[in-house]
Amino acid sequence: MNSLQPISLQPWLRRICWGGRRLQTVLGKQLGEFQDYAESWEVADHTETISTVSNGPFKGSSLRDLLQRFPSELLGRHAGTAQFPLLVKFLDANEWLSLQVHPNDKQAAAYSDTDRGKTEFWVILDAEPDNQICCGLLPGVDRRTFADAIAAGNVSELLHRYSVSPGDCIYVPAGTVHALGPGILLAEIQQQSNLTFRIHDWNRVDLQGQPRQLHIPQALDCIDFERGPVKPLQPQAEMNGETPCEQLLRCEYFRIRRYSTATTISIRNDDQCRILMLLEGQAGLESADSISHLCRGTTVLIPACCSQVHLHPTQHCTLLDITID
Ligand SMILES: [Zn+2]
Repeated sequence: MNSLQPISLQPWLRRICWGGRRLQTVLGKQLGEFQDYAESWEVADHTETISTVSNGPFKGSSLRDLLQRFPSELLGRHAGTAQFPLLVKFLDANEWLSLQVHPNDKQAAAYSDTDRGKTEFWVILDAEPDNQICCGLLPGVDRRTFADAIAAGNVSELLHRYSVSPGDCIYVPAGTVHALGPGILLAEIQQQSNLTFRIHDWNRVDLQGQPRQLHIPQALDCIDFERGPVKPLQPQAEMNGETPCEQLLRCEYFRIRRYSTATTISIRNDDQCRILMLLEGQAGLESADSISHLCRGTTVLIPACCSQVHLHPTQHCTLLDITID
């Protein structure tokens, strides 16, 4: 009987013009020779890529295979879905990302047969002191003002901009206008979707002198003009069973907790799958039948059938704990 153990997945690295090298220098990912590694897809079940298991008896299987073969063992009370519901990445913004917006589920259905809406959540890991992000619009900006500013080329003046620090948590529901500036490394938790509508790309061109495509009518239809400025969230101290943690977010699509510890903690599973991401430190992760080593930048999937895991830090650890609800 092969029961599921904590699962390591092979990261899928994506080069995009705004990427850099910090996925390797800070998070230990194995990069090639280029200077623009933008994203490491840690847990994915998407048309772009499906994660592959890199440890244990199911090494080489895809996440989709596991989901089909062991739906209850993997997802517990959320079994029955054909696709793994969450997409988890690390992002290295070495240049500005485009100013963009993502559709909600209802809007997404009009643009894609496969992708859902895209609500996302960021936890900042590293940020240069003079960094900037844009999140939300200034108060009172309506569709007409925004469309006029796009046409006139001065959309930057309508954006809510600020700088972020390591540890900051930002919730970006579908419909929120946003962009990340240079010098920011983060973990991103989102719906299993890659639907992005670009509003502005900072007048950037590629090596052939070509701009990237914009999607202004689609963006205008998807922006939530009621949202206003979006600030970092205030984490809430709580207990997960016996273990103190911070609840960073609970929304319709996922729940995110964070543990900060230098001593052993136990995380009890409640008949659902968890994704653990080690954001800082080093630790051993013990389950009933296995022990694995986690370092900064390691992501592990804990199947629902693992009723409990223990984290044994060898250095002070910050651990993100992502569940579906
Ligand atoms: Zn986005």
